[in-house]
Amino acid sequence: SSRMAKSKFEYVRNFETDDTCLKNCYIVVRLDGRNFHKFAEQHNFMKPNDDRALGLMTCSARSVMEDLDDIIISYGQSDEFSFVFKRTSNWFKRRASKLMTHVASQFSSSYVFYWKDYFGDQPLLYPPGFDGRVVLYPSNRNLRDYLSWRQADCHVNNLYNTVFWTLVQKGGLTTTQAEDRLKGTLAADKNEIMFSEFDINYNKEPLVHRKGTTLIWEKLEETVTKSVKLPNEAGEEVLVTRTRRRVSAHHCDVIGNQFWEEHPNILED
Ligand code: ATP
Ligand code: ATP
Ligand code: MG
Ligand code: MG
Ligand code: MG
Ligand code: MG
Repeated sequence: SSRMAKSKFEYVRNFETDDTCLKNCYIVVRLDGRNFHKFAEQHNFMKPNDDRALGLMTCSARSVMEDLDDIIISYGQSDEFSFVFKRTSNWFKRRASKLMTHVASQFSSSYVFYWKDYFGDQPLLYPPGFDGRVVLYPSNRNLRDYLSWRQADCHVNNLYNTVFWTLVQKGGLTTTQAEDRLKGTLAADKNEIMFSEFDINYNKEPLVHRKGTTLIWEKLEETVTKSVKLPNEAGEEVLVTRTRRRVSAHHCDVIGNQFWEEHPNILED
Protein backbone atom coordinates (compact mmCIF):
# COMPACT_ATOMS: atom_id res chain seq x y z
CA SER A 1 0.00 0.00 0.00
CA SER A 2 1.02 3.61 -0.46
CA ARG A 3 1.91 4.03 3.18
CA MET A 4 4.60 1.40 2.89
CA ALA A 5 8.02 2.46 1.78
CA LYS A 6 9.17 0.70 -1.35
CA SER A 7 11.28 -2.25 -0.41
CA LYS A 8 13.94 -3.90 -2.48
CA PHE A 9 11.54 -6.81 -2.83
CA GLU A 10 8.99 -4.72 -4.67
CA TYR A 11 10.29 -5.69 -8.12
CA VAL A 12 8.69 -9.14 -7.86
CA ARG A 13 5.32 -7.54 -8.61
CA ASN A 14 6.51 -7.18 -12.18
CA PHE A 15 6.40 -10.94 -12.51
CA GLU A 16 2.61 -10.71 -12.54
CA THR A 17 1.25 -11.24 -16.04
CA ASP A 18 -1.32 -9.04 -17.69
CA ASP A 19 -4.60 -10.89 -18.02
CA THR A 20 -6.82 -7.95 -18.93
CA CYS A 21 -9.84 -9.12 -20.92
CA LEU A 22 -10.18 -7.64 -24.40
CA LYS A 23 -12.42 -4.58 -24.39
CA ASN A 24 -15.94 -4.71 -25.78
CA CYS A 25 -16.31 -8.47 -25.31
CA TYR A 26 -18.73 -10.25 -23.05
CA ILE A 27 -16.76 -11.94 -20.30
CA VAL A 28 -18.09 -15.36 -19.41
CA VAL A 29 -17.00 -17.15 -16.27
CA ARG A 30 -18.07 -20.80 -16.15
CA LEU A 31 -17.81 -22.77 -12.93
CA ASP A 32 -18.07 -26.53 -12.65
CA GLY A 33 -18.22 -28.64 -9.51
CA ARG A 34 -15.11 -30.66 -8.81
CA ASN A 35 -15.73 -34.38 -8.82
CA PHE A 36 -19.48 -33.94 -8.36
CA HIS A 37 -20.25 -37.39 -9.60
CA LYS A 38 -18.77 -38.63 -6.34
CA PHE A 39 -20.06 -35.67 -4.33
CA ALA A 40 -23.60 -36.46 -5.54
CA GLU A 41 -23.30 -40.09 -4.49
CA GLN A 42 -21.88 -39.30 -1.08
CA HIS A 43 -24.63 -36.78 -0.40
CA ASN A 44 -27.44 -39.02 -1.62
CA PHE A 45 -28.51 -36.88 -4.57
CA MET A 46 -31.66 -38.21 -6.21
CA LYS A 47 -31.07 -39.63 -9.67
CA PRO A 48 -31.16 -38.29 -12.27
CA ASN A 49 -32.08 -34.87 -10.85
CA ASP A 50 -31.86 -33.77 -7.25
CA ASP A 51 -33.95 -30.63 -6.84
CA ARG A 52 -32.29 -29.68 -3.56
CA ALA A 53 -28.93 -29.61 -5.29
CA LEU A 54 -30.29 -27.61 -8.22
CA GLY A 55 -31.93 -25.18 -5.81
CA LEU A 56 -28.67 -24.71 -3.92
CA MET A 57 -26.75 -24.10 -7.17
CA THR A 58 -29.28 -21.45 -8.19
CA CYS A 59 -29.23 -19.85 -4.75
CA SER A 60 -25.43 -19.64 -4.87
CA ALA A 61 -25.54 -18.15 -8.38
CA ARG A 62 -28.06 -15.59 -7.18
CA SER A 63 -25.67 -14.60 -4.42
CA VAL A 64 -22.89 -14.16 -7.00
CA MET A 65 -25.11 -11.87 -9.11
CA GLU A 66 -26.26 -9.85 -6.13
CA ASP A 67 -22.86 -9.45 -4.48
CA LEU A 68 -20.58 -8.92 -7.48
CA ASP A 69 -20.86 -6.15 -10.07
CA ASP A 70 -21.89 -6.16 -13.71
CA ILE A 71 -23.30 -9.66 -14.26
CA ILE A 72 -26.20 -9.39 -16.70
CA ILE A 73 -27.28 -13.01 -17.08
CA SER A 74 -26.28 -16.40 -15.81
CA TYR A 75 -27.17 -19.92 -16.84
CA GLY A 76 -26.84 -23.14 -14.89
CA GLN A 77 -27.48 -26.88 -15.15
CA SER A 78 -26.12 -29.93 -13.32
CA ASP A 79 -23.00 -28.86 -11.36
CA GLU A 80 -22.16 -25.90 -13.59
CA PHE A 81 -23.05 -22.22 -13.80
CA SER A 82 -22.01 -19.59 -16.36
CA PHE A 83 -21.92 -15.88 -15.51
CA VAL A 84 -21.89 -13.20 -18.18
CA PHE A 85 -20.39 -9.79 -17.43
CA LYS A 86 -21.60 -6.87 -19.50
CA ARG A 87 -19.33 -5.83 -22.37
CA THR A 88 -18.54 -2.46 -20.85
CA SER A 89 -17.68 -3.79 -17.42
CA ASN A 90 -14.54 -2.35 -15.95
CA TRP A 91 -14.77 -4.29 -12.70
CA PHE A 92 -11.26 -5.07 -11.44
CA LYS A 93 -9.99 -3.45 -14.63
CA ARG A 94 -11.29 -6.55 -16.45
CA ARG A 95 -8.55 -8.68 -14.96
CA ALA A 96 -9.55 -12.28 -15.77
CA SER A 97 -8.08 -13.90 -12.67
CA LYS A 98 -9.75 -11.38 -10.34
CA LEU A 99 -13.16 -11.81 -11.95
CA MET A 100 -12.94 -15.58 -12.10
CA THR A 101 -11.68 -16.08 -8.56
CA HIS A 102 -14.25 -13.70 -7.09
CA VAL A 103 -17.02 -15.61 -8.86
CA ALA A 104 -15.64 -18.99 -7.83
CA SER A 105 -15.08 -18.12 -4.19
CA GLN A 106 -18.37 -16.25 -3.73
CA PHE A 107 -20.16 -19.21 -5.30
CA SER A 108 -18.34 -21.86 -3.26
CA SER A 109 -18.75 -20.10 0.06
CA SER A 110 -22.45 -19.53 -0.69
CA TYR A 111 -22.87 -23.21 -1.55
CA VAL A 112 -21.59 -24.10 1.90
CA PHE A 113 -23.31 -21.21 3.68
CA TYR A 114 -26.78 -22.06 2.27
CA TRP A 115 -26.34 -25.86 2.29
CA LYS A 116 -28.64 -26.41 5.27
CA ASP A 117 -31.44 -24.35 3.68
CA TYR A 118 -31.68 -27.02 0.98
CA PHE A 119 -30.40 -30.20 2.64
CA GLY A 120 -31.73 -29.67 6.16
CA ASP A 121 -30.24 -32.08 8.65
CA GLN A 122 -28.20 -33.96 6.07
CA PRO A 123 -24.61 -32.99 6.83
CA LEU A 124 -22.17 -31.59 4.33
CA LEU A 125 -19.38 -34.16 4.57
CA TYR A 126 -16.48 -32.12 3.18
CA PRO A 127 -15.84 -28.72 1.56
CA PRO A 128 -16.84 -28.83 -2.14
CA GLY A 129 -14.80 -26.98 -4.77
CA PHE A 130 -15.51 -25.47 -8.18
CA ASP A 131 -13.17 -24.84 -11.07
CA GLY A 132 -13.51 -21.71 -13.17
CA ARG A 133 -12.59 -20.55 -16.64
CA VAL A 134 -12.93 -17.30 -18.54
CA VAL A 135 -14.04 -17.05 -22.15
CA LEU A 136 -14.55 -13.86 -24.18
CA TYR A 137 -17.30 -13.47 -26.76
CA PRO A 138 -17.09 -10.51 -29.12
CA SER A 139 -20.62 -10.57 -30.58
CA ASN A 140 -24.19 -11.05 -29.41
CA ARG A 141 -24.46 -14.01 -31.77
CA ASN A 142 -21.39 -15.68 -30.22
CA LEU A 143 -22.75 -15.11 -26.72
CA ARG A 144 -26.16 -16.50 -27.63
CA ASP A 145 -24.51 -19.49 -29.27
CA TYR A 146 -22.50 -20.05 -26.09
CA LEU A 147 -25.66 -20.13 -23.97
CA SER A 148 -27.38 -22.30 -26.58
CA TRP A 149 -24.45 -24.71 -26.40
CA ARG A 150 -24.79 -25.06 -22.62
CA GLN A 151 -28.57 -25.52 -22.90
CA ALA A 152 -28.18 -28.10 -25.69
CA ASP A 153 -25.75 -29.94 -23.39
CA CYS A 154 -28.35 -29.83 -20.62
CA HIS A 155 -30.95 -31.31 -22.97
CA VAL A 156 -28.74 -34.12 -24.29
CA ASN A 157 -27.56 -35.15 -20.83
CA ASN A 158 -30.97 -34.90 -19.24
CA LEU A 159 -32.67 -36.95 -21.95
CA TYR A 160 -30.04 -39.66 -21.56
CA ASN A 161 -30.10 -39.60 -17.77
CA THR A 162 -33.89 -39.60 -17.62
CA VAL A 163 -34.30 -42.68 -19.83
CA PHE A 164 -31.28 -44.38 -18.22
CA TRP A 165 -32.67 -44.06 -14.68
CA THR A 166 -36.17 -44.93 -15.85
CA LEU A 167 -34.82 -48.22 -17.24
CA VAL A 168 -33.07 -48.87 -13.92
CA GLN A 169 -35.66 -47.61 -11.44
CA LYS A 170 -38.86 -48.60 -13.24
CA GLY A 171 -37.63 -51.21 -15.70
CA GLY A 172 -35.55 -53.20 -13.22
CA LEU A 173 -32.44 -53.19 -15.42
CA THR A 174 -28.96 -53.08 -13.93
CA THR A 175 -26.91 -50.00 -14.80
CA THR A 176 -24.84 -52.08 -17.21
CA GLN A 177 -27.95 -53.43 -18.93
CA ALA A 178 -29.39 -49.91 -19.21
CA GLU A 179 -26.14 -48.67 -20.70
CA ASP A 180 -26.16 -51.45 -23.28
CA ARG A 181 -29.80 -50.84 -24.10
CA LEU A 182 -29.07 -47.17 -24.87
CA LYS A 183 -25.91 -47.71 -26.90
CA GLY A 184 -26.29 -46.11 -30.32
CA THR A 185 -29.83 -44.84 -29.70
CA LEU A 186 -30.89 -41.45 -31.08
CA ALA A 187 -33.03 -38.88 -29.30
CA ALA A 188 -36.16 -40.22 -31.01
CA ASP A 189 -35.40 -43.77 -29.82
CA LYS A 190 -35.01 -42.58 -26.24
CA ASN A 191 -38.29 -40.68 -26.36
CA GLU A 192 -39.94 -43.79 -27.80
CA ILE A 193 -38.59 -46.11 -25.09
CA MET A 194 -39.97 -43.83 -22.39
CA PHE A 195 -43.29 -43.35 -24.09
CA SER A 196 -44.08 -46.88 -25.20
CA GLU A 197 -42.60 -48.78 -22.26
CA PHE A 198 -43.12 -46.41 -19.35
CA ASP A 199 -45.88 -44.07 -20.50
CA ILE A 200 -43.61 -41.08 -19.94
CA ASN A 201 -43.81 -38.10 -22.26
CA TYR A 202 -40.35 -36.58 -22.01
CA ASN A 203 -41.69 -33.17 -23.04
CA LYS A 204 -43.80 -33.15 -19.88
CA GLU A 205 -40.80 -33.64 -17.61
CA PRO A 206 -40.09 -30.56 -15.42
CA LEU A 207 -38.73 -27.56 -17.33
CA VAL A 208 -36.04 -26.97 -14.71
CA HIS A 209 -34.56 -30.35 -15.63
CA ARG A 210 -34.96 -30.01 -19.40
CA LYS A 211 -33.95 -26.38 -19.80
CA GLY A 212 -31.75 -25.55 -16.81
CA THR A 213 -31.94 -22.21 -14.99
CA THR A 214 -31.46 -18.74 -16.41
CA LEU A 215 -31.08 -15.84 -14.01
CA ILE A 216 -31.66 -12.27 -15.16
CA TRP A 217 -32.30 -8.91 -13.55
CA GLU A 218 -35.91 -7.86 -13.34
CA LYS A 219 -36.94 -4.26 -12.73
CA LEU A 220 -39.65 -3.65 -10.18
CA GLU A 221 -41.57 -0.41 -9.94
CA GLU A 222 -42.34 0.07 -6.31
CA THR A 223 -44.58 2.69 -4.77
CA VAL A 224 -43.89 3.49 -1.16
CA THR A 225 -45.26 6.07 1.21
CA LYS A 226 -42.62 8.18 2.78
CA SER A 227 -43.25 10.60 5.58
CA VAL A 228 -41.57 13.89 5.08
CA LYS A 229 -41.23 16.21 8.01
CA LEU A 230 -40.19 19.78 7.58
CA PRO A 231 -39.05 21.73 10.64
CA ASN A 232 -41.94 23.30 12.60
CA GLU A 233 -44.54 21.62 10.41
CA ALA A 234 -46.77 18.59 10.73
CA GLY A 235 -45.52 15.41 9.07
CA GLU A 236 -46.69 14.78 5.55
CA GLU A 237 -47.12 11.51 3.68
CA VAL A 238 -45.94 11.46 0.10
CA LEU A 239 -45.98 8.71 -2.52
CA VAL A 240 -42.62 7.89 -4.01
CA THR A 241 -42.00 5.50 -6.89
CA ARG A 242 -38.66 3.89 -7.11
CA THR A 243 -37.26 1.12 -9.24
CA ARG A 244 -35.62 -1.77 -7.57
CA ARG A 245 -34.09 -4.68 -9.36
CA ARG A 246 -34.03 -8.26 -8.33
CA VAL A 247 -32.78 -11.50 -9.79
CA SER A 248 -35.48 -13.63 -11.38
CA ALA A 249 -35.19 -17.28 -12.36
CA HIS A 250 -36.47 -18.72 -15.66
CA HIS A 251 -36.56 -22.29 -16.89
CA CYS A 252 -37.22 -21.63 -20.54
CA ASP A 253 -35.68 -22.11 -23.93
CA VAL A 254 -32.85 -19.65 -24.61
CA ILE A 255 -31.89 -21.13 -27.98
CA GLY A 256 -34.75 -19.64 -30.00
CA ASN A 257 -35.53 -15.94 -30.40
CA GLN A 258 -38.52 -15.65 -28.07
CA PHE A 259 -36.63 -15.26 -24.78
CA TRP A 260 -34.38 -12.57 -26.29
CA GLU A 261 -37.33 -10.72 -27.81
CA GLU A 262 -39.08 -10.74 -24.46
CA HIS A 263 -35.97 -9.40 -22.72
CA PRO A 264 -34.44 -7.01 -25.26
CA ASN A 265 -32.31 -5.17 -22.71
CA ILE A 266 -30.02 -8.01 -21.68
CA LEU A 267 -27.77 -7.83 -24.73
CA GLU A 268 -26.07 -4.58 -25.61
CA ASP A 269 -25.60 -3.15 -29.10
P1 ATP B 1 -9.65 -5.80 -1.22
O1 ATP B 1 -11.00 -6.35 -1.49
O2 ATP B 1 -9.17 -4.80 -2.22
O3 ATP B 1 -8.60 -6.85 -0.93
P2 ATP B 1 -9.48 -5.37 1.63
O4 ATP B 1 -10.34 -4.54 2.53
O5 ATP B 1 -9.57 -6.85 1.74
O6 ATP B 1 -9.82 -4.91 0.14
P3 ATP B 1 -6.61 -5.66 2.00
O7 ATP B 1 -5.50 -4.76 1.52
O8 ATP B 1 -6.65 -7.04 1.42
O9 ATP B 1 -7.97 -4.85 1.79
O10 ATP B 1 -6.48 -5.68 3.56
C1 ATP B 1 -7.14 -6.61 4.37
C2 ATP B 1 -7.64 -5.92 5.63
O11 ATP B 1 -8.38 -6.86 6.38
C3 ATP B 1 -6.56 -5.42 6.56
O12 ATP B 1 -6.16 -4.11 6.24
C4 ATP B 1 -7.26 -5.47 7.90
O13 ATP B 1 -8.07 -4.34 8.08
C5 ATP B 1 -8.19 -6.67 7.76
N1 ATP B 1 -7.64 -7.90 8.32
C6 ATP B 1 -7.30 -9.01 7.63
N2 ATP B 1 -6.87 -9.97 8.42
C7 ATP B 1 -6.94 -9.48 9.66
C8 ATP B 1 -6.61 -10.00 10.95
N3 ATP B 1 -6.14 -11.25 11.10
N4 ATP B 1 -6.79 -9.22 12.02
C9 ATP B 1 -7.27 -7.97 11.87
N5 ATP B 1 -7.60 -7.41 10.70
C10 ATP B 1 -7.42 -8.14 9.61
P1 ATP C 1 -15.21 -32.89 -12.96
O1 ATP C 1 -14.46 -32.63 -11.70
O2 ATP C 1 -14.33 -33.22 -14.12
O3 ATP C 1 -16.18 -31.80 -13.33
P2 ATP C 1 -17.58 -34.36 -12.23
O4 ATP C 1 -17.72 -35.66 -11.50
O5 ATP C 1 -18.03 -33.13 -11.51
O6 ATP C 1 -16.05 -34.23 -12.69
P3 ATP C 1 -19.33 -33.54 -14.41
O7 ATP C 1 -19.22 -33.86 -15.85
O8 ATP C 1 -19.15 -32.12 -14.02
O9 ATP C 1 -18.32 -34.51 -13.63
O10 ATP C 1 -20.76 -34.05 -13.96
C1 ATP C 1 -21.36 -33.69 -12.78
C2 ATP C 1 -22.05 -34.88 -12.14
O11 ATP C 1 -22.58 -34.48 -10.87
C3 ATP C 1 -23.24 -35.42 -12.89
O12 ATP C 1 -22.87 -36.36 -13.84
C4 ATP C 1 -24.09 -36.02 -11.79
O13 ATP C 1 -23.60 -37.31 -11.47
C5 ATP C 1 -23.79 -35.14 -10.61
N1 ATP C 1 -24.83 -34.11 -10.35
C6 ATP C 1 -24.65 -32.76 -10.41
N2 ATP C 1 -25.78 -32.11 -10.12
C7 ATP C 1 -26.71 -33.05 -9.87
C8 ATP C 1 -28.11 -33.01 -9.50
N3 ATP C 1 -28.75 -31.85 -9.33
N4 ATP C 1 -28.75 -34.18 -9.31
C9 ATP C 1 -28.10 -35.35 -9.46
N5 ATP C 1 -26.81 -35.47 -9.81
C10 ATP C 1 -26.12 -34.33 -10.02
MG1 MG D 1 -16.39 -31.90 -16.39
MG1 MG E 1 -18.07 -31.29 -12.41
MG1 MG F 1 -20.40 -30.56 -14.91
MG1 MG G 1 -8.35 -8.14 0.66
